[in-house]
Amino acid sequence: MDLSLAVLSGDGIGPEITAATLHVVAAAERRFGLGLRLSEHPVGVAALAATGSTFPAETAAAIKAADGVILAPVDTYAYPAGQPNPSAIVRKSLDLFANIRPAVARLPAARRRAEIDLVMYRENTEGFYADRNMFDGSAEFLATEDVALAVRKITREASTRIAREAFRAAARRRGLVTAVHKANVLKRSDGLFLEAVRAVASEFPEVRLEEVIVDAMAAHLVRDAARFDVVVTTNMFGDILSDEAGELAGGLGLAPALNAGSDHAVAQAVHGSAPDIAGEGIANPAALILSAALLLRWLGERHATSALVDAAGAIEGAVDAALADPAAHTRDLGGTATTMVFAERVANALKD
Ligand code: ATP
Ligand code: MG
Repeated sequence: MDLSLAVLSGDGIGPEITAATLHVVAAAERRFGLGLRLSEHPVGVAALAATGSTFPAETAAAIKAADGVILAPVDTYAYPAGQPNPSAIVRKSLDLFANIRPAVARLPAARRRAEIDLVMYRENTEGFYADRNMFDGSAEFLATEDVALAVRKITREASTRIAREAFRAAARRRGLVTAVHKANVLKRSDGLFLEAVRAVASEFPEVRLEEVIVDAMAAHLVRDAARFDVVVTTNMFGDILSDEAGELAGGLGLAPALNAGSDHAVAQAVHGSAPDIAGEGIANPAALILSAALLLRWLGERHATSALVDAAGAIEGAVDAALADPAAHTRDLGGTATTMVFAERVANALKD
């Protein structure tokens, strides 16, 4: 099976961690014979200089045609007003409704903050961040000069589709879905979200559903993160809780994400473009490497190609092997290794 990946190397540390990630993907290709066809397309500051747009039409067409996308972080602060945010356009044009963020303790026991192995399914199209066309490009508006109102949109359809992804994942994992909500106060909106989740739960008798209020969830994560398997929640709660879970698992440099829709998926690290360390070759590429692994697994499951699923697991194992040696740690983890030294260690671990 020949699949294509569109690679968008972004701004700031983006090009450095993209090169590292492609080095690892190439090693996986050699070992597993994946038959991936990779092509790079311009975005961000480099694209602006070359084409006049931070998201040129050629790139827009390429991401739709590709089977999967690797999107490195972009630095929208550096763009002139009116230039598109590539990350937002990719999400919208491919209808990526699920923001999937695993939080896995990968560092050696002495260096980790918590025992944690969960995956968060965050609804990515509505909630408080929804419908940016609602009020003059925003989901909020000024009722008077002194009163601001924000509108939170929850629909049965969007709640059902994110819940279905979460239950499918739990059925393949440890069989527990935790739905996080605030239905005690937000009775109508989170009430509707919970109703949709419960309806999906009835399709998955082998998966257990528990419901936890969001403030309690923030505490539970700190106290006993290990008990969670799959967490499903609305947009803003997921934004906040996934940062908390990511920090417990080892921090930004290790936090991967997959943005998935029904036909497309995009590998994207949780962190930003880190302009403060760009160009120094010291950024941690692990988050983007692990995001690429999530994409390969998604493609493998979708196209029933076991080599891709095996490659994803092997990349994760190779990252663990590299992280087991403090000499391979980048500066954010307290080490002195460069971006490419880490990538080389991961690629080497993939050989055996
Ligand atoms: P954004 O608005 O794009 O999310 P941010 O302000 O959240 O940006 P990041 O770019 O995510 O910031 O970076 C936050 C801090 O973490 C910075 O000091 C940055 O250098 C550091 N950082 C982020 N990603 C990495 C990485 N992969 N390796 C090392 N340090 C990183
Ligand atoms: Mg940020």
